[in-house]
Amino acid sequence: MSGDERGTRVAVIGGGAVGVTAAYDLARRGEEVVVYEKDRIAGGSTGRAAGVLYDAYAAPEDARVGDRAMARFREFSGEADFEFRETPYVWFAHEGDERRADAIRDQVPRMREAGREVALTTPDELRERFPAVDWSDVGVAAVAENAGHTDPEGYARLLARKAEDAGAEIRTDTEVRLDADALAVERVEAEAGEDGGDSESFDAILVTAGAHTKRLLAVAGIPVPLKPYRVQALTAGFDADRRADLPMCYDTTSGYYLRPHPEGLLAGDGTEEVESDPDDWTREADREFCEVTRDRLGRRLGEFGAVREAWAGLCVATPDRDPLVGELRDGLFVAAGWQGHGFMRAPALGEAVAEAMAGENPLPEFAPTRFDGDEEFEVVEGMTVE
Ligand SMILES: Cc1cc2nc3c(=O)[nH]c(=O)nc-3n(C[C@H](O)[C@H](O)[C@H](O)COP(=O)(O)OP(=O)(O)OC[C@H]3O[C@@H](n4cnc5c(N)ncnc54)[C@H](O)[C@@H]3O)c2cc1C
Repeated sequence: MSGDERGTRVAVIGGGAVGVTAAYDLARRGEEVVVYEKDRIAGGSTGRAAGVLYDAYAAPEDARVGDRAMARFREFSGEADFEFRETPYVWFAHEGDERRADAIRDQVPRMREAGREVALTTPDELRERFPAVDWSDVGVAAVAENAGHTDPEGYARLLARKAEDAGAEIRTDTEVRLDADALAVERVEAEAGEDGGDSESFDAILVTAGAHTKRLLAVAGIPVPLKPYRVQALTAGFDADRRADLPMCYDTTSGYYLRPHPEGLLAGDGTEEVESDPDDWTREADREFCEVTRDRLGRRLGEFGAVREAWAGLCVATPDRDPLVGELRDGLFVAAGWQGHGFMRAPALGEAVAEAMAGENPLPEFAPTRFDGDEEFEVVEGMTVE
């Protein structure tokens, strides 16, 4: 496939943040794009994501992706109902947690070398700058300035609309299966039909099916080392005045995060470090997650309001915690395995895989062919600092 050939036919399987971004970037290059989404736009993990965005990565390829993603979030902000809200991101280890304190002390200079606007800070500075939070148990902390939050579903809806405006066709409520050899997709529900299904062929196919990516490719005979795992989040009330003094936080010792939210605050954790079945998992949050999170929020913030919503969703792990982005077989591309960081990088990774489909190789570090597909590995929570 070449960017110079106009009108190459491309299928994108999955209408999450990554799929609709890729669809937009392919369509505006003049490709003929069809997006298949079995549910609605953002009906998978994107619609369940917390919307925490930052560029605080140390590896040069991650830093490049972070730069591009943040620039695009800012560029799109204000279109339709999508809004990127600038908010610093603070991550910290408790006093006495030397392992994570050392990890933060080690990360920050490497991130700065990679051009990130991050710095070590002290509990006193944090108290001064963010009085809504109790920092008394904090030993070592760092702050990233190039950060913010947004509504992930609003982003996906906007990019789907932009893709359509650029000429893409978006078919929601359309589950497909993949025929990798024929570079074709077939509607799943058409199987029982009398005409034996309606298969469509393409010049290239991109699989951005999130937690279903491994299963979809496995049915087509292609193994990839991806493991979905379950995480949880909730929203709760929080005083509007104090919200203005609330940064996004990640407590690396306890392993939870929080951020301001239009209804108060949003907090998340509840990670299960085991492989989940993408077709059989509990969508509601566990009672224990809600109780533990309420307790943590009480200690960190003092008073806060009632829990409004609590839910679970799936993230996807890889053996080296880096994603699979690029060509798997001739004409068959994949973009998946974000280890809990797929939404914040979607504007860059969706674009990168569109570029890969145009024959460029923007992220060789993430080539899916670096794995055989049958690797054994443990699921590790993506935000872990150690
Ligand atoms: C509780 C929670 C909090 C999170 N918080 C953050 C965060 O703060 N920041 C961050 O960066 N990331 C976060 N994440 C991770 C983030 O949600 C994902 O990394 C990101 O949404 C992945 O986007 P995607 O487009 O790859 O996948 P998805 O959004 O899952 O999209 C895949 C789509 O493919 C569709 N599909 C699957 N199979 C088929 C098929 N056979 N045919 C047609 N369609 C199909 C699905 O319906 C789905 O809509 C969080 C995740 C959860 C669950």
